[in-house]
Amino acid sequence: MQNQTLIQYFHWYYNEEQTLWAKVKNEAKNLGQLGFTKVWLPPAYKASGGGYSVGYDAYDLFDLGEFDQKGSVPTKYGSKAEFLEAVNALHDNGVGTLADVVFNHKAGADELEQVKVRKVDPENRNEFISDEFEIQAWTKFTFPGRGDTYSSFIWDHQCFSGVDWAEDTQEDAIFSIQNQYGDKWEEVVSEEHGNYDYLMYADIDFRNPAVREELKYWGKWMHETCGLVGFRLDAVKHISHHFFNEWIDFMQNNAGDELFIVGENWEINSAEELQSYIDRTEGRMQLFDSLLHLNFHEAAKQGNQFDLQTIFDNTLVQLSPNLAVTLVDNHDTQPLQALESYVDYWFRPIAYSIILLREQGIPCVFYPDVYGAKYEEDGQFIELNHVEELPELLRLRKEKAYGLQRDYFDHPNCVGFTREGDTEHDNSGLAVVISNGDEGIKRMEMGEHFAGQIFIDALQKRTEEVEIGADGFADFYCAAGSVSVWVLK
Ligand code: CA
Repeated sequence: MQNQTLIQYFHWYYNEEQTLWAKVKNEAKNLGQLGFTKVWLPPAYKASGGGYSVGYDAYDLFDLGEFDQKGSVPTKYGSKAEFLEAVNALHDNGVGTLADVVFNHKAGADELEQVKVRKVDPENRNEFISDEFEIQAWTKFTFPGRGDTYSSFIWDHQCFSGVDWAEDTQEDAIFSIQNQYGDKWEEVVSEEHGNYDYLMYADIDFRNPAVREELKYWGKWMHETCGLVGFRLDAVKHISHHFFNEWIDFMQNNAGDELFIVGENWEINSAEELQSYIDRTEGRMQLFDSLLHLNFHEAAKQGNQFDLQTIFDNTLVQLSPNLAVTLVDNHDTQPLQALESYVDYWFRPIAYSIILLREQGIPCVFYPDVYGAKYEEDGQFIELNHVEELPELLRLRKEKAYGLQRDYFDHPNCVGFTREGDTEHDNSGLAVVISNGDEGIKRMEMGEHFAGQIFIDALQKRTEEVEIGADGFADFYCAAGSVSVWVLK
């Protein structure tokens, strides 16, 4: 079995000449050769911002760039036909597709409704600060451009638990909708702001059984229409985990092969919070390891003041290695985004060697690290360079990062690990040395089966040849502030 490797195939400001779906199709062969096994694509359905939207302001999950809605037929990324061609091209090259799913909210309603609400304190959503009163809210979704093709479900205020805009009074606040399924927020795992059910737009109420059935029906339709291998679930901490347990069980029971499901639960404080979500969803979904990303960010900022022995402290990959999707950055942490915490360039090859070459976690590579990116917003120009070492690190993951792992996290500025290889992958096995200070040397064990063999640095940062001793050990080198990966010559 080849190691699993994901790529997030977009960034927030994708602005290249060809549509993203066309680019995926053109690059499908290359992605397979680089060693990617799954590609996470951005939301494929129509958002309220139409052809300009990144896609997280979801409007109509059944419009994959097929109907004239929100000002255009295609989405920002292309048409439905192009999307299906992209997925098929990936499939033909042995690469699966993960679709991005926004279930927390809907945006861009078609009609206003008279809705009973109570206002809440934005800082403590459990604190109701008004009696019940009526507002005009954008809560009715009839999808006039699609009609009843694929689904005739009409969304109204019985399907939503909150909004943040009263059209009649032009008031901006957080309004809890009082409908037949409840007069309070839904139970969610996150207790930030008292209860973090409400995030933005019209917040979907999963207590309504018709809503749950419609989203199961959609999931089945989406999976069968597109030939997906799994889903990336947006903003899961704002959604009832009971719903996801039901939805994922339904999806897994209907899919021929097991689906790969990863949730975005962007946690910045404690790995126990992520673990608690995993407990409540009973391991049904993987989670992105936001905390490892933050450790990378911090390590890059602090330079040689950072103790590399602590790089896995308070991370999901340490607590639940089998359910962690590891990453260096994503579309929310890139420059100019609200959660900007981009890992500095000097550390990116180090961070990638950690997520790609170790046994724990399934790595997800960020688009700009392969292709670079140039964008501008409000007069600020950003240029992200690709990571030069990445293709080689991906090859090493695909061909050599197998077998028993031995860890040498025994110095604040110089750490290492080895993989002893396995019989299934010819000439597999490697030794990684990382320094965030001066040049380093680390005595590590490769295993006696390598005795007398010569190793060289696949990243060509060091020019020495290293001979493995009769005991299976050798001294491996690393340049200052750098990473070297030693493999059989
Ligand atoms: Ca919610």
